[in-house]
Amino acid sequence: MFIRIDKLQIELPQPKAADPNAAASVQELLGGRFGEMSTLMNYMYQSFNFRGKTKLKPYYDLISNIATEELGHIELVSASINSLLNGPFSDRRNADPNDAPYEAEKDLRNTHHFITNGNASLAGNSMGQPWRGDYVFSSGNLILDLLHNFFLENGARTQKLRVYEMTKNEAAREMLGYLFVRGGVHALAYAKALEELTGVKMSQMLPIPKIDNTHFAEALKFEAKGYHRKLYRFSQDDYRDIAKIWHGPAPDGSGELEVVDGPPEGGKMADLEDIASAFAPDYRPEEIFEMAQKLYQQASR
Ligand code: MN
Ligand code: MN
Repeated sequence: MFIRIDKLQIELPQPKAADPNAAASVQELLGGRFGEMSTLMNYMYQSFNFRGKTKLKPYYDLISNIATEELGHIELVSASINSLLNGPFSDRRNADPNDAPYEAEKDLRNTHHFITNGNASLAGNSMGQPWRGDYVFSSGNLILDLLHNFFLENGARTQKLRVYEMTKNEAAREMLGYLFVRGGVHALAYAKALEELTGVKMSQMLPIPKIDNTHFAEALKFEAKGYHRKLYRFSQDDYRDIAKIWHGPAPDGSGELEVVDGPPEGGKMADLEDIASAFAPDYRPEEIFEMAQKLYQQASR
C-alpha cells in the first residue's frame, strides 16, 4: 500500500510566461512510451508479479522502491506541464465566453490540454495519444525485466535530453535537471543489479547518450548536493535490502553510494489560480469557494 505526501520531490520555479508548446513536448516525458507513466507502471507491475520475493529480496526491494519514486516523478512532470500551461499567454482568460477568449488556444500544438483538461496535463504523449498498458513489460524473468528497465531508463534519458534541447523554459529545465540525475541513479541501480546477477559490467555503458549530467547547469546543481549518489527508501520500514545492491563507490569518483532512509525533503506544490474561460474550477469560482468556506465554519461549530 501507499502513503502520500502533499509535496513535490523538488520545488519548481513558476515560469515568467506560459509556454503551451513546450508543455506539449514535455507530455512525451509523462505519457509517452518512455515517459514517467511507463517507468512507474513497468516497475509497479514487475513488483506486483514478482516470484521468489524472499529469496531474491534485494531485487524485489529495488524494483518496488524505484516504482514508488516514479510515482513522484509523474507528479513532478505533471506539475511542470501545468505551470507551462498557466502563464498569461492569453490575457483573456477571464473574458466573456461570447468574446471567444480561447481563440488563441485553437492554434496550439495540443488542443487537448485546453478542450478536455482545462489548461492541464493529460495521460498521453506529445502527439496527444493516450498512454497505453502495453508499454508495460513484465515478463516474469528477472534478468530480462532488469535488462528492460535499464533500456527503459536510457530511452527515457534520450528523450528528456531532446526535450531539454527544445525549450529553455525554467519550469521545464528544473524538472529535467532533476530527472537526469534521478534517471542516472535508476540506470546505475539496474546496471548494478544485472552485474551482481550476470557478471556483465553494464555500468560501463553509461551514460547513454554519452554526455554527462554535469554538462547541464540544472543537473549539476543537484549532483553538487550528491543526489546522484542517493537512493531514497520510500517506506517507513520496508525495502531495506536495496542497500545490498546500492553501495560502493559512485562511478564519478565523488564518494560512496548511499541509501537515504525516507523521501527527499521536497518542495511545495504550486496552487494555480482559477481560469474562468476554462470553467476551472468554474466560471464564477467565488461561489464554490464560498461553499467550501462553509465546510470550515461547520467544522468549527
Ligand atoms: Mn522517473
Ligand atoms: Mn527512473
